[in-house]
Amino acid sequence: MIDNEFPSNPYLLLTPGPLSTSRSVRSAMLQDWCTWDDDYNVGIVQNIRSRLVKIATKDIEKYTAVLMQGSGSFAVEACLGTAVPCDGKLLIITNGAYGQRMVQIAERLKIAYIKLEYEETKTPNMGEIKRLLKREGRVTHVAFVHCETTTGILNPLEEMTLLVKQYDKVLIVDAMSSFGGIPMDISQGEIDYLISSANKCLQGVPGFAFVIARKDSLLKCKGHARSLVLDLFEQWEQMNLSGKWRYTSPTHVVRAFYQALTELEEEGGVEARFQRYQENHRLLVEGMRSLGFQTLLPDEVQSPIITSFLYPDRNFDFKAFYQKAKQRGFVLYPGKISKNDTFRIGNIGDIYPEDIKRLIKALAGCC
Ligand SMILES: *Cc1c(COP(=O)(O)O)cnc(C)c1O
Repeated sequence: MIDNEFPSNPYLLLTPGPLSTSRSVRSAMLQDWCTWDDDYNVGIVQNIRSRLVKIATKDIEKYTAVLMQGSGSFAVEACLGTAVPCDGKLLIITNGAYGQRMVQIAERLKIAYIKLEYEETKTPNMGEIKRLLKREGRVTHVAFVHCETTTGILNPLEEMTLLVKQYDKVLIVDAMSSFGGIPMDISQGEIDYLISSANKCLQGVPGFAFVIARKDSLLKCKGHARSLVLDLFEQWEQMNLSGKWRYTSPTHVVRAFYQALTELEEEGGVEARFQRYQENHRLLVEGMRSLGFQTLLPDEVQSPIITSFLYPDRNFDFKAFYQKAKQRGFVLYPGKISKNDTFRIGNIGDIYPEDIKRLIKALAGCC
């Protein structure tokens, strides 16, 4: 391969996904694959599924992984639409746009639901959840987002899981932007479904998402799905049997993901990646504060994934700031919240502390 036929990125993406990937992940896409062939189905698809389960838990017999074409939201819709039966009732705990998207999905699929909504800058109130679970006996399933990428707030996964399981509800966690970047064992709290995607902390390219499901919970879901193509149970059934996806699978993306998982192992697994993200994040916040920027969230609830910064004053021109940063090799991310003017900087992906140090120097020249 001639090097200049495969150019490097002109800038780093400091976004929550798709994010900057390694050159080796991107170059893994330069081969075509047959979806009937064992090289692909057994060698790659089944291999990825078992590695995902191993990343999620030590209790590998209890869990299984289902891959689903599309972006992360496709897997969220597939999961909600398949896990909750027509006589079920879903409690959605939300403090941001991705929780709100689950509400939209429930609306659209006509899933009976209750919404417990918090401000985008506040974590859910445990006492309130407890009272609600006590009062609403008909609730069968609970869903919430782990790291709400809207702001970068980190919801207390263990505490919330424990509480939901005290009331014996089926639990669905959108860990889209945290899985692979923050250590967790999903069997600890007996999470039933954990949803994430190829192009976030696992550092693959966009094109599919996945659900890591407790086998005994998923096995109860035959015939529940409100959609043909987003039927998580049928997707699992076929994939589990033969490694085949029900409809055309994003072969190149899947091969790149296989490479991305190898690179996660080479880095030292989720714990090592978490350390790197934490260091990236620490340097980011320290550097931005030294330039006069303030974070939206207090440090106690801030994730090491993506950070919201307040506009320094009312005349701040984010577009101009963004363009200047881009010219210097860094792509930032606009804000997504209603009440404050913010912008966001992600520090996940193939990004290292040296990159963050270069970023701060570059941004010093943009203010
Ligand atoms: C990225 C993300 C999603 C999925 O978004 P898509 O645009 O469909 O990939 C869902 N939830 C969270 C928390 C996310 O960060």
